[in-house]
Amino acid sequence: MNKKLFVISGCSGVGKGTVINKFMERNKDFILSVSCTTRPPRQGEIDGIHYFFITKDEFEQNIKDDKFLEHACFAGNYYGTKKKYIQQKFSEGFNIILEIETQGALQVKERMPEALLIFIAPPSVEELENRLRGRHTEDEETIQKRLAQVKTELERSKKYDFVVINDDVNRAVEEIESIVKNDITK
Ligand code: 5GP
Repeated sequence: MNKKLFVISGCSGVGKGTVINKFMERNKDFILSVSCTTRPPRQGEIDGIHYFFITKDEFEQNIKDDKFLEHACFAGNYYGTKKKYIQQKFSEGFNIILEIETQGALQVKERMPEALLIFIAPPSVEELENRLRGRHTEDEETIQKRLAQVKTELERSKKYDFVVINDDVNRAVEEIESIVKNDITK
């Protein structure tokens, strides 16, 4: 059976990390793609596991050399998925999940129309702001930048194949499982 690529996006603070981690625990034939980024590591983040942390110069050279399947600038930093990494994981026999923001997701859809795009939405924007602040990982300026992205991301979510509301983590995971399983067996 052919392996597939799924893109999961969601506004910052929507709880997509929790949903995706739970999904990954339960679905061992899937791998979560490791992206490149120019943002500095947060406490506990490990190079090669959470991200490949690279310099802006390196990132820009990779753009010039057309090494990315997709890339985007988000909240002042570059993020991107290497084509070679994806090819490697497909050849190892995995289905792949990309946890990326919306600009990159729409680039993937253009370049790989068979990829399925899933957007995780908050039950409400107020709820989202509370979750973002509750994380205590970003300063106020960063929070403001991220909230400004929310409107744009919700607008772009209209181009996704599915929108899953994260009102309950287990329910959201089950909905994603049923979406991907239905797609894989097509
Ligand atoms: P964070 O800095 O919180 O880890 O990620 C910020 C945003 O960048 C999140 O929305 C995350 O999904 C997105 N992101 C992470 N990796 C990539 C990537 O490779 N490409 C794109 N386009 N976005 C990414």
